[in-house]
Amino acid sequence: MDGQEPFAIVLGCSDSRVPAEIVFDQGLGDLFVIRVAGNVVAPSQIGSVEFAAERFGTRLVVVLGHSMCGAIAATLEELEQPSERRSPNLRAIVDRIRPAVEGLFEAGVRTDRETLAHLAVRANIRASVDHLRHGSEILERLIERDGLLVVGAEYSLESGLVDFFDDPARR
Ligand SMILES: [Zn+2]
Repeated sequence: MDGQEPFAIVLGCSDSRVPAEIVFDQGLGDLFVIRVAGNVVAPSQIGSVEFAAERFGTRLVVVLGHSMCGAIAATLEELEQPSERRSPNLRAIVDRIRPAVEGLFEAGVRTDRETLAHLAVRANIRASVDHLRHGSEILERLIERDGLLVVGAEYSLESGLVDFFDDPARR
């Protein structure tokens, strides 16, 4: 295969049940995939998106979170019962999820665990989308001038369906 022209960049979770190529039924060269536990956005993720958007002209970025995400569960546990024993590296992931999820706790969302986890997954996807839309001058310029679209989607492990719930083009 000479060169590549992926039509979408996917920032997804490392969860073994959510490989982007299989979820979206795509082949080699179709998707530029970045995977990290909890689909969090750190500088290396932003750099990867910038690289693909600039180098390959890809104009669609999908943040793909999913139901029953272990990174979200770990963050909820940490909020309920802070642990000193967590590795600093794992903490770096939890700390990136925490701001989006903390709000749900503070807003007094005293609901059942399942609903809280569901809301937290979506809040975290929205936070990553927001971070990509506003955390980089290069991406901001591509969004404003070149039609780069950053959307948020949740894959349901239960149904196998992807819900594009944060898509500015559909509003
Ligand atoms: Zn996950």
